[in-house]
Amino acid sequence: MEAVTAAQVLSEIGYLLRQQEKERFRAKAFAAASWSIALSRPDLDELARTESLTSIEGVGEGIARVLADLIRTGESRYLNRLREQMQQPVQEDETDLDFDDYMGDIHSHSNWSDGRATMLEMAEGAQAMGYSYLGVTDHSPRITVVHGLNAERLVAQSREIAEVQKQVDGVALLQGIEVDILEDGALDLPDAVLEILDVVIASPHVKLRQEPAAMTERMMRAVSNRHVDVIGHPTGRRPGSREGATYDFEAVFKQAAKNGIALEIDCDPARMDLSPEMARMARDLGCDFVVDADAHAPAEFAYVPMALWMARRAGIPKERIRNFRPSWD
Ligand SMILES: [Zn+2]
Ligand SMILES: [Zn+2]
Repeated sequence: MEAVTAAQVLSEIGYLLRQQEKERFRAKAFAAASWSIALSRPDLDELARTESLTSIEGVGEGIARVLADLIRTGESRYLNRLREQMQQPVQEDETDLDFDDYMGDIHSHSNWSDGRATMLEMAEGAQAMGYSYLGVTDHSPRITVVHGLNAERLVAQSREIAEVQKQVDGVALLQGIEVDILEDGALDLPDAVLEILDVVIASPHVKLRQEPAAMTERMMRAVSNRHVDVIGHPTGRRPGSREGATYDFEAVFKQAAKNGIALEIDCDPARMDLSPEMARMARDLGCDFVVDADAHAPAEFAYVPMALWMARRAGIPKERIRNFRPSWD
C-alpha cells in the first residue's frame, strides 16, 4: 500500500470525526498520523508484516488497527462505516488523482509575513517534494498582525526571491500575494501592484459573518477583478469550530468560472475549504481548481498529499486542477 493512499484515508477519517463534537481528540490524532505518514512515507507493507505500525510517529494501537485493516484489504471498514454514519456515501464519479502528477503548490507563506520559515527553507521544502514551481504568496498589508506586504516590501521581497532562486534548482519560484478581500469586495492592494505579480490569490479573512447579500456582493466583486487568479479558502470555514461565510455560492462560482478564476481547495486540516460537497457543486458550475497546502512551514507541504482525497471525492478531473499542469502560466 502506497503511503500517500493510506495518509488520505486517515485524513478523511480525521475530517469526518472532526464534525462530531465528542470525537475532536480522536480527529486530531488521525490527522496527525496522516500528516506523519505523508511526510515520512514509511514502507507500510513491511511494517504491517512485522506488526510494527506503531513505530510510525503519531500511530498508536487504535490507528494501527485501522491501518492494518486498510493495508490487508485495500479498503478501510472504519472509514466506510463513518461515511455511512455521516451520510456521505461513496460517489459514483470519484476521480483517480495521483499525487505523483501534482506539479506545484501555489499558496505558501514565508517569514516575510506569518510563515515560520525563510523563503530559502520553503523553496528547499518544495524541491524535496519534487515540485516544479512554488507560489510565494505572503499576506497583504491589511493583515497588520502578520506584517503584511505593501508595494515597497514586495519589491524588497522580489530581490530575495531572485537570490533564493539561484540557490534552488528545479523549482520555479513565483512571486505572488494572498491579498485580502476587503468588506466591500475591493482588494487590499492597488491594481498596479497586483498586475506585476505572478500569482494573485484573493481570500476572505475577516468579517465572514456579513449578511449574505453583502457577502455575495463582496465576493462577486472579487471574482470580477481581472488580476485575481484564485479565490483562496472561499468560505473561510474551520471544520468543527467556525462555519464560514454564507453567500450566493452559485452566482459567485459561476462568475469565477466565466472569468477563469480558480477556486481553492485549501488542504490545511484546520480549513479543508472548499469542502468536497461545495467543490462538487463548483465543478458542476464549470469552475477550475487549485489544491494547495497554504504551508507556513516546509513540513506543511505534506497537507496536499494527505488531503488530495477531497478533490477525488468532489469528482474533479485532473484537467480542471491547475496544479497538475506542468507550469503556472
Ligand atoms: Zn488565508
Ligand atoms: Zn494563506
